[in-house]
Amino acid sequence: MDTLYSQATSEWLAVADGPLAAEAHLAPYAMRCELSAGRVHAEPPEALNNCYQDDRDRIVRSAAFRRLSAKTQVFMGETGDYHRTRLTHTMEVALAARTLGRALRLNEDLIEVLALAHDLGHPPFGHSGEATLNACLAAEGGFCHNRHGLRLVEELELRRPGYPGLNLTREVLQGQAFRIDKTVAPARPLLEVQVVEAADSITYDTHDADDALELGLLELGDLLTLPLWREAATRVRRRYANIADRPLRQAILAEVLRVQLTDVLRQTHAALAELQVDALDQLPDTTLVEASLAVAEQKAELEAFLFQRVYRHPRVLAQRARFQQQVADVFAALVRRPGELPAGFGSRVAHDGVRRTVGDYIAGMTDRFLIAQHTRLCDLAT
Ligand code: MG
Repeated sequence: MDTLYSQATSEWLAVADGPLAAEAHLAPYAMRCELSAGRVHAEPPEALNNCYQDDRDRIVRSAAFRRLSAKTQVFMGETGDYHRTRLTHTMEVALAARTLGRALRLNEDLIEVLALAHDLGHPPFGHSGEATLNACLAAEGGFCHNRHGLRLVEELELRRPGYPGLNLTREVLQGQAFRIDKTVAPARPLLEVQVVEAADSITYDTHDADDALELGLLELGDLLTLPLWREAATRVRRRYANIADRPLRQAILAEVLRVQLTDVLRQTHAALAELQVDALDQLPDTTLVEASLAVAEQKAELEAFLFQRVYRHPRVLAQRARFQQQVADVFAALVRRPGELPAGFGSRVAHDGVRRTVGDYIAGMTDRFLIAQHTRLCDLAT
């Protein structure tokens, strides 16, 4: 194995400068593979990859990642086929995060894996499903999608004999831990971790508005009451004199994204310069990758607007109530009849108890699989 590995590595080195040479351009405050704290279970990297590229491959090849394609971001499948799924949201976050990371000369490979992994723990029906599972598991410590994401990659996904989970690098595990509780997370979060946090919220604020427009929950005029959108629309109209509605909308969306990403970059550069950060161990405990006060205020206005007008829209709430009931029904049915769990879950029940095991099983379901289980188990129950 070692011989094969070193042979493949030397072949790679013969045709390129090698995976680590790609880090030569990184800023002094960027994370480097050679500084990685490694994996819980030591493994050589795959030939051609560095350790974070290996992590990315492990994430993308996991069952949990594939299932994101049929999990809700905000809008359920039955509302149409334009809107984002949890998978396409994840991909858009990775794009924005890599854009920020490249401009800041951070480790894009680490950023990519953090972005691709950030929502792995979402149950069916997004935050609605999460709230229901949290209530169902209240006596067992509740359910949090970020904590479940960590549990998936550390314990539940099975990749190789000899250890549970995906055996990711410690930087990726710590990045996910930061998402769970920022107050107890490791001090001095890597800038790569901070970039993904910033990209996530910029991305969902923007694409949720786009999806709501497409679904007719909002009119463009509603969004133009918000300074962030109005100012972006003014710049777009200045550039394109006669622009039809749909390209206008897409151009405004791109401008809203551009303004926020540029603002975060400018703000981060200024913070790094002010604090004179020129090494990884000089990063402060505070968050450096964030919006300026002016844009943060505009963003907060947009989020308050989306909360009232989109996330609490009667059509969205009606769906939410129905699917939350289905999650609660399936949970109760499986707790009552754990024999209905797939073969192989017996040892998990012995280890984690029935309720947590059922919660884990449901959290792994896609929207459509949960609906199918509801039909099956409710039929059984009657
Ligand atoms: Mg997200």
